[in-house]
Amino acid sequence: LPANGYLLAKLMPLSEFDVIERYFNVAGAQRDDVVLGIGDDAALLRVPADRALAVAIDTLLEDRHFLSGSDAFDIGYKSLAVNLSDLAAIGAEPAWATLSLSLPSADGHWLQAFADGFFSLARRFNVQLVGGDTTRGPLSVTVQVHGFVEPDRALRRSGAQPGDKVYVTGSLGDAACALHQLQAGHAGDPLLVERLNRPVPRVHVGRALTRQAHAAIDISDGLLADLNHIARASRCGATLWVDRLPRSTAFAASCDPEWVLPMQLSGGDDYELCFCVDPERAERLPALAAEAGVTFTEVGVMEKKPGIRCRHDDGSIYSPRSGGFDHFA
Ligand SMILES: [Mg+2]
Repeated sequence: LPANGYLLAKLMPLSEFDVIERYFNVAGAQRDDVVLGIGDDAALLRVPADRALAVAIDTLLEDRHFLSGSDAFDIGYKSLAVNLSDLAAIGAEPAWATLSLSLPSADGHWLQAFADGFFSLARRFNVQLVGGDTTRGPLSVTVQVHGFVEPDRALRRSGAQPGDKVYVTGSLGDAACALHQLQAGHAGDPLLVERLNRPVPRVHVGRALTRQAHAAIDISDGLLADLNHIARASRCGATLWVDRLPRSTAFAASCDPEWVLPMQLSGGDDYELCFCVDPERAERLPALAAEAGVTFTEVGVMEKKPGIRCRHDDGSIYSPRSGGFDHFA
């Protein structure tokens, strides 16, 4: 044994986790506004003079936010995706990310797959990982993202006005339907499972909406809850036309009819955007949707009266189940 053998042995648990840095040194995008990235005590970053810094953070816990035994690539991807979705919702352009990872053990295969998932999305949206931390503990992933937005154009929740048309991007219910299938022990429809595990944050739509929308939010908790966040912040209410909620072909084909509306209204994990637009500006939306390659569907209208009212197209009231559809209950 070398003279320092005892010291090395004592340091082993620490050095094992130091090795983890190797998996994250690829950093994703390389950005000019990063003065100093990973490897020092702190990162040094440059924010454009005319922009506000937009910051969002989210923690993903095993069994709470993803199923135990989920693919490490998907966990890495989704931990960044849900954060980029928050930046999209405020209309910010993503720039940097930091990562805090708690792991029961330093498993090389798991880490490589996690990093592959994380960086596949980081490269796609020009995000550079500029710092991180790893500890031993129950599996938990915290990602913080930073982006830029014109301060007077940010899409706040509080900007909606009575008379605004309410839109959603893409389709609703896919992720909840996939989770339901997986929890029932089925393989799950591949298209729906893809929507659950690898949601595409609507970053480009969010940026474009900074010139068009009064308010926006990303749909993480379900349309009903998230539109209610806008309504409360804007001190108004809304009517939702539940028969018009956009359904994907895969969802329509495999969702039990009884669960269609609960999953679309309260399923969560969709990471689409819900936004409110002055009717006079609505005519510009089709071109914007075509440019972004995403569908926009008008699903309701903001009103003075507080609360969210759900109606069928024939005018009858739809009463959502109390408590909604809590997919991790
Ligand atoms: Mg959000």
